[in-house]
Amino acid sequence: MAMVIETEELERNPGKVLEFTFEESFGSFEYKGESVEFAEDVLVKGGAVRVKDGFMVWGDIITTLRLHCSRCLSSFDFPLELEFEIEYRRGVEEAHSKERSLKEDDFRISYFSGENIDIEDDVKQFIILSIPMKPLCKEDCKGLCPICGKNLNEGECKCSREAEDPRWNALKELVKGGVGNGGSKEKDVEGSEG
Ligand SMILES: [Zn+2]
Ligand SMILES: [Zn+2]
Repeated sequence: MAMVIETEELERNPGKVLEFTFEESFGSFEYKGESVEFAEDVLVKGGAVRVKDGFMVWGDIITTLRLHCSRCLSSFDFPLELEFEIEYRRGVEEAHSKERSLKEDDFRISYFSGENIDIEDDVKQFIILSIPMKPLCKEDCKGLCPICGKNLNEGECKCSREAEDPRWNALKELVKGGVGNGGSKEKDVEGSEG
């Protein structure tokens, strides 16, 4: 199986929109040294039409990835739904245009040869581009204890990690005393007074 759009009918009927739905299971891949898995099939729904320079293909990519949280390292499901638009031109991609097309977020120009267009590689590229730089299992993930390594989302550990450093208190006094100098950056220091 592949995500192939047949061009013959589109070629014969300029202006006609061909609708398609693909559902396929993708294999895992490496991303920034982490293995990314698919928690479910990749669903691609969209349309294609003949345009002046080739074929315009657009649609939605819907799937769920399994990512690793950058704070607590546990894996979590990351639902994904994104729109894409690709103009496919017949021919061979030039070396410099490839770099350009990779940088585009929502629109790209791609090249194909032969009878049909296989959009699978581009679909995968769009998925990869939508992975956050630092994935988080949840917005307020507490991360791991730097001392014992316990996942703090599952409960507190016994480490005295949160005992305050006396130097920190001294700094707080300074901040409180010197409001005139204080910028907005000191706000969170003031707020955590215990
Ligand atoms: Zn986490
Ligand atoms: Zn600990």
